[in-house]
Amino acid sequence: MVKGQSDQKKGLDKRTRERFKKLLLKEREEIIGDVKQIYESSQEVGQDGIQDIGDEAANVYNKQILLTLNENERMRLKEVDEALDRIKAGMYGVCEECGEPIGLKRLEVKPVAKYCVPCKTKLEKGEL
Ligand SMILES: [Zn+2]
Repeated sequence: MVKGQSDQKKGLDKRTRERFKKLLLKEREEIIGDVKQIYESSQEVGQDGIQDIGDEAANVYNKQILLTLNENERMRLKEVDEALDRIKAGMYGVCEECGEPIGLKRLEVKPVAKYCVPCKTKLEKGEL
């Protein structure tokens, strides 16, 4: 096996990242999925742009969904989106505070984790 460590020294290998990406996308779908259902069932007749979603319509549609989400769900969605951004940027699995690997075990429990355990603990104690 070839070691591609130069660009992903502290991040996760590609396969692991892909696995978490799928996990995160699924979580995203779960958060939005509920709302989508509620939204669709409350808008059954006489509205345009709900059944057929083009790119632009989808944006409006997403906005509507965001409005429908409660604060907790919006937070979750934000965390998931940020994690997906970090995957895209190749920064996933690296602590935002100290730059060290977050650790697979922690990510398994909390795929949206931004900080490693020591940093998270410090943050919670208000030491950072
Ligand atoms: Zn850290």
